[in-house]
Amino acid sequence: MKETKSTCPYCGVGCGVIIQSEGDQITGVRGDPEHPANFGRLCTKGSTLHLTASAAVTRRARLLQPMLRAQRGDKPVHTDWDTALDLAADRFHAIVQEHGPDAVGFYLSGQLLTEDYYVFNKLAKGLLGTNNVDTNSRLCMSSAVAGYKMTLGADAPPNCYDDVNHADCIFIVGSNTAFAHPVLFRRIEEARAARPQMKIIFCDPRRTDTAELADLYLPVQPGTDVMLFHGLLHIMLWEGWTRPDYIAAHTTGFDALKAVVRECTPERVAQTCGIAKEDLFTAARWFATSPATLSLYCQGLNQSANGTAKSAALINLHLACGQIGKPGAGPFSLTGQPNAMGGREVGGLANLLSAHRDLANPQHRAEVAALWGVPSVPKQPGKTAVEMFQAAADGEIRALWIACTNPAQSMPDQATVRRALQRAEFVVVQEAFATTATCEYADLLLPATTWGEKEGTVTNSERRISRVRAAVPAPGSARHDWSTAVGFARRMQVRLVRHERLFDYSTPEQIWLEHRESTRGRDLDITGLSYAQLEAAPQQWPFPEGATAGRARLYEDGSFPTADGKARFAPVQYVPVAEPRESRYPFSLTTGRLRDQWHGMSRTGTLGRLFGHVPEPAVQLHPQDMERRQLQDGDLVHVTSRRGSIVLPAQASTELGLNQAFIAMHWGPEYLSGVSSTGEPLAGVNALTTSAYCPSSKQPELKHAAVKILKAELP
Ligand code: SF4
Repeated sequence: MKETKSTCPYCGVGCGVIIQSEGDQITGVRGDPEHPANFGRLCTKGSTLHLTASAAVTRRARLLQPMLRAQRGDKPVHTDWDTALDLAADRFHAIVQEHGPDAVGFYLSGQLLTEDYYVFNKLAKGLLGTNNVDTNSRLCMSSAVAGYKMTLGADAPPNCYDDVNHADCIFIVGSNTAFAHPVLFRRIEEARAARPQMKIIFCDPRRTDTAELADLYLPVQPGTDVMLFHGLLHIMLWEGWTRPDYIAAHTTGFDALKAVVRECTPERVAQTCGIAKEDLFTAARWFATSPATLSLYCQGLNQSANGTAKSAALINLHLACGQIGKPGAGPFSLTGQPNAMGGREVGGLANLLSAHRDLANPQHRAEVAALWGVPSVPKQPGKTAVEMFQAAADGEIRALWIACTNPAQSMPDQATVRRALQRAEFVVVQEAFATTATCEYADLLLPATTWGEKEGTVTNSERRISRVRAAVPAPGSARHDWSTAVGFARRMQVRLVRHERLFDYSTPEQIWLEHRESTRGRDLDITGLSYAQLEAAPQQWPFPEGATAGRARLYEDGSFPTADGKARFAPVQYVPVAEPRESRYPFSLTTGRLRDQWHGMSRTGTLGRLFGHVPEPAVQLHPQDMERRQLQDGDLVHVTSRRGSIVLPAQASTELGLNQAFIAMHWGPEYLSGVSSTGEPLAGVNALTTSAYCPSSKQPELKHAAVKILKAELP
């Protein structure tokens, strides 16, 4: 038996795993006791990775050869790699020639490795001349990115997991950490057991399993977080709990913020947010006066049409109380996916460039063009996730390349996304799994390697870069994602008659070294780090030349990466949800994760035992809402929004408030069918969700849609 160290491919905790293999079979997995993200622990998903690897092959869920569809609706047939990549290059080239580079788009994934991301980004922005590169990480953390940049000056989470052990107060907001980041949650439980005086505040519309650990639960009404945070600051100011010395020395803009929060009186906040006034005072006191307060936040803040403001308003609290830049304190955004952070590092978003550079900055564009050896990088911002599919639905984007993600299930407003995939002239889907809903729309399917087969790096929530290693060879003729992108890029170079040596890579390490050079002098500088050091142990950034270790915490000296070195208070405004509930659509629908499933279930759905926790989809409702509608557990209901409708069983849950509904995000067409408002077949909860998005981050409001719920008539 061989043992290979790697990283779990599921969530942003980024646990180290040791893969056990015999020949070309993965036979087991255990937690890596030396990995600082998990010290040997794994959750139910991580500990069953080896079983999903073999189940995917035996259940014929893996895509093992390139497949070509003569026309939409036909069964795809096998083809060879040269034919496939030549065809892709011919089609993309023809569209670029006729309609310009912005007529094509690349939609990537936080599951891709940093090296994969780097090549795609360079291919689109450096070679083809379009910034139409975005990713499902847009649905996951772009509001956190924008919030950090707005206030602290850089997209750099200032904390590390060890802060959990130093915090005196942990404020968990918009995160069901117990399900979404289980190993981190276990660490919080242990820290709490070791330090019983620690206070834990949990704030979420749903009283999830995470609330079990809380000393104080704040049942915030959906979308009202900015009002809550402003209200807490109002109380802190009134009670004299802020830190004027910290504010004066290290920040700017406090007076403008004070003017905004003046209106957010405890009475108004209590009424808007649905939280008792005395609980607001308790939360404000614990947050402000504890020696060290750590906030952990995730999609509940990010997936919102006011997501950037939510994120910034929370960071305001940390700045006002000096709760940042010391052990156990700071605003710590948790990333949903294993490499959402790595994608940000290489600029794999429509508005970013390599190493946290901004597309809007002419000097940054010139630096990246020089680094890549190309004449220029286009300045026109690319289409973000929702915009990209809207543009394809409108006929503006004509070719789509989708890698390692399943937008036909995971994007909001499925009707529009499916219209986009139907209308696009050419759709390439680069995938490990043949079973995703998006595969049905592909003209060309390109088989990809996956966990246990790939080499490269990922970065977790605490800025820690870990190696991902191959334990077994690629099955069938599946290729590594970076290698497929390079093969396509080289063909495009020939067709575009470009002679630069842009894609001279034969290993992921060569790509990583180029990425490393791009970080020189930037906030995420890793020029002091080598692949060999990563082979030995995962490392946090920044890790500049001359450093002997990465930095666990940022801003400890009170200096921030802004022009004057000071953090900026953001006087953001509370804006209600994009689609408030009203008499015709009286329920607030929210979406979220289950403990044992991951994304669209292409991997976890291959394994029967992962259905033991929750075996089938359901819409959860408050028991009184069930009673009022004369519903029993298991009764089928239509859940309908302005965009579509699905049918599923109702289930009473005391986790929810009145007029709230919850449906897990994972269930796809196999489990949950539906129909659009115009009668087209759809599936999953995103038949209902809205594509309204945050104007700053462009992250869609997956956490709220107004719906009605009616008992289904049985035939
Ligand atoms: Fe994997 Fe996340 Fe579970 Fe760790 S906590 S084993 S990274 S799913």
